[in-house]
Amino acid sequence: MVPESYLTDASFIRDGYADRVFIPDNVEQVAEILAGANRDRIPVTVSGAGTGTVGGRVPFGGVVLATDRLNRIKVIDLTNHTAVAEAGVILSDFQKSVESEGLLYPPDPTERGCFLGGTVATNASGARTFKYGPTRNYVAGLKVVLASGEIVDLKRGESHADENRRLRVGSVEVQLPKLRRPATRKNATGYFVAPGMDAIDLFIGSEGTLGVICEITAKLLPKPEGLLSGVVFFEKETDVLALVAEVRAHVDARAIEFFDVESLNFLRQKYSAIPEQAVAAVFFEQETTPSTEESVFDQWQTLLDKHHALADSWFATNATDQARLREFRHQLPVLMNEWFAHYRQRKVSTDMAVPDDAFPGLFRLYQDTLRDSGLRYTIFGHIGDNHVHVNILPRDDTEGARARELYVQFLKYAARAGGTLSAEHGVGKLKREYLRLFYSDDQLRDLAAVKLSLDPNGILGRGNIFSEDLL
Ligand SMILES: Cc1cc2nc3c(=O)[nH]c(=O)nc-3n(C[C@H](O)[C@H](O)[C@H](O)COP(=O)(O)OP(=O)(O)OC[C@H]3O[C@@H](n4cnc5c(N)ncnc54)[C@H](O)[C@@H]3O)c2cc1C
Repeated sequence: MVPESYLTDASFIRDGYADRVFIPDNVEQVAEILAGANRDRIPVTVSGAGTGTVGGRVPFGGVVLATDRLNRIKVIDLTNHTAVAEAGVILSDFQKSVESEGLLYPPDPTERGCFLGGTVATNASGARTFKYGPTRNYVAGLKVVLASGEIVDLKRGESHADENRRLRVGSVEVQLPKLRRPATRKNATGYFVAPGMDAIDLFIGSEGTLGVICEITAKLLPKPEGLLSGVVFFEKETDVLALVAEVRAHVDARAIEFFDVESLNFLRQKYSAIPEQAVAAVFFEQETTPSTEESVFDQWQTLLDKHHALADSWFATNATDQARLREFRHQLPVLMNEWFAHYRQRKVSTDMAVPDDAFPGLFRLYQDTLRDSGLRYTIFGHIGDNHVHVNILPRDDTEGARARELYVQFLKYAARAGGTLSAEHGVGKLKREYLRLFYSDDQLRDLAAVKLSLDPNGILGRGNIFSEDLL
């Protein structure tokens, strides 16, 4: 019997099944399991912590390879600012360990209970991506096991695609397709493919379809000396949007996140202190030093006054208060996940992004369409990166069907605007059919050919990114 905990994730896909779970202790065991599965053509679904939102680790047959026991932090190198850790290390443990050594690992998805390997496999991002970029920017090395069982050590800077778009990965040569990358600030859709690209980048964001990531060499930064953070409330949404535009242009913030009125209404269940008249809010963070602490605070005060923030907003300068504000930010997706679980409805949650100039149009489309829909919804997230999540919260199947219609309408807008299906959560199983709105079948076949050169029997992450007919 495979425990239920390995058959689900935060997508709430409920009908996953598998014959067996392997929980290897080391990379050699991973290689042995994959070599056997490849020989017998048994599908292998790689499992991290299961916080993914698109069903990537939900198996449909075959075996699960769980990374739970690959959980050692091997080295924190204070001289070179790097750390080596196994894939099953919990992200928050990793962050705490490096921070206790005066260093920072910037990738910070809102859910920190995920595994380091899961964040690399999905190229996770989060609020701090506004300043630091996604996980990809902090991966200096990977130990990966290919479907054949071959163990490959990838070091950034060592292997690049040649002028004919050929890329060497261990003993395998991969022919890269010509694909236009969307001009969005973030992208987590399909494989990273670019002229002259580094081989390591192919695996970052590959959603368990190209190899099992066993060990990560992470790039670290000096830990900031101080941090100012705040949750600031507004009576008019237009004021928030003006503030965000000014922050983006003139302030060295590390995060700026948006909550619409429906998000605040959700949060009011837990936070009665949210001012009654608030119709929108932002969460922000900016790093400080003892010499800039005061000027940073003054700058925010001036900005917030200028844009008519409510006086009863919340600020934090110490770790305990900051953790409270972060928890406020985290509670929104958690509360919504509870809703989805309660109503037993599939998640309808957008993660698309568009180029900067198309964002105001998309944002207006979300608001106008949803206000008239009669559905319950929230709009919140990484507005600094022009990437907000819409969650539609259906109460029954009829509302679920209507929510999916609206989702397709939003996707079509994003596709027309040269955007991306997923900016941070990936494609998984939940969104793979929608890829066809963004790519032609020929383009998807070219991308699938990359997978088949590394995994000729198609055993890894079956059902993720590609529909069966493409493999
Ligand atoms: C409340 C909440 C908030 C979230 N906020 C964010 C956010 O702000 N930003 C963001 O980017 N994401 C966010 N997520 C999504 C999720 O937390 C991330 O995608 C996370 O990186 C997944 O890690 P995991 O270990 O849970 O992976 P899993 O869910 O176990 O797996 C995710 C995918 O990666 C593959 N995989 C996992 N480990 C490996 C490995 N070692 N080798 C190869 N493939 C592997 C799996 O097969 C699967 O396809 C959120 C999720 C929740 C529930």
